Amino acid sequence: MKIEGASLQRTLKNRGYRITRQRQVVLEVLRSTNTHPDAHWIYQRVRRRMPQVSLGTIYRTLGVLKETGLIQELSYGSSFSRYDGTPENHYHIGCIRCGKVADVDLPLLRTLEKRIKPREDFKVTGHRLEFSGICGDCQ
Ligand SMILES: [Zn+2]
Ligand SMILES: [Zn+2]
Repeated sequence: MKIEGASLQRTLKNRGYRITRQRQVVLEVLRSTNTHPDAHWIYQRVRRRMPQVSLGTIYRTLGVLKETGLIQELSYGSSFSRYDGTPENHYHIGCIRCGKVADVDLPLLRTLEKRIKPREDFKVTGHRLEFSGICGDCQ
């Protein structure tokens, strides 16, 4: 997916963030793959273009991009978070052997959030749905 520089700039600016080269490069790297990589993978790729960048900067940058709704963080409890350059909600399948995460082609179940029994202590703001299986490489 190609990033439109102007829209990135507007999104960041609206949230009070400056557009920096590292933010742009991190977003480009993340949107150039559909493998849902972790921060370390992103760090290795960004470093090819910005040799001075640190892993800490990558984490902070990912935090800003997530905060502004440009990317998603997929957290898995105790293991490393994976990052997704597609900001809209969609569904994933994860390999139970190697941890690979892929998108699944299923339309968003918009009514799901309305179908759960309301609880007075919760306001539903979204949902996350993930399938599990064994990927082609691991079969
Ligand atoms: Zn696998
Ligand atoms: Zn995804």
